[in-house]
Amino acid sequence: MRLCFATHNIGKIKEASSLLGRKFSLVSLQALDEKGTLPETHDTLAANSFEKAAYIWNKYKTPCFAEDSGLEVAALDNAPGVYSARYAGLQKCAQDNITLLLSKLLGVTNRQAKFKTVITLMTQTTQQRFEGIVKGAIAQQPLGKNGFGYDPVFIHKGHTKTFAQMALKEKNKLSHRAMALQKLLCFVANL
Ligand code: IMP
Repeated sequence: MRLCFATHNIGKIKEASSLLGRKFSLVSLQALDEKGTLPETHDTLAANSFEKAAYIWNKYKTPCFAEDSGLEVAALDNAPGVYSARYAGLQKCAQDNITLLLSKLLGVTNRQAKFKTVITLMTQTTQQRFEGIVKGAIAQQPLGKNGFGYDPVFIHKGHTKTFAQMALKEKNKLSHRAMALQKLLCFVANL
């Protein structure tokens, strides 16, 4: 089955290809010649993932899925949440986001955090939502070079390494996105 992953985020594409690549022919936005920024106008992950999937489905009529994800930090009233990508500004710079996050948590002992993902799958016959949540903590300083976004400061519960210190395969056994993608995989297998 051909399935478009509606994202321009290279980090997310690598993760999804590693998990779904053998089961699906994953179609990129580049292959559809879709260069524009996808609409993301809502204040919930679910509404944004639906909006992005609907945009691609309506434009290309190709089976697709979109996801929206974010980091929720307990001591910051669950910020940055749905605004994770643009936490430190519209330049969407991961380094700036991490610097801002760590400055807000300076001297804060409660480092609890969660990553959340919501995926919307859209085909001719179905619209389905899948979620993944992982608990962890924010490190005192960035560590590791792998992954993307907040990976250098997120330590999965029960682990000592950040996501950025893990190989892709290791992160893919644990992550919020992997969890939601596995649910999508099971759903599509039973269609
Ligand atoms: P989205 O592209 O609008 O879904 O933005 C999600 C943002 O949340 C990303 O740009 C990252 O900043 C952050 N994020 C989501 N998932 C992850 C992850 O697995 N690792 C690190 N950061 C993530």
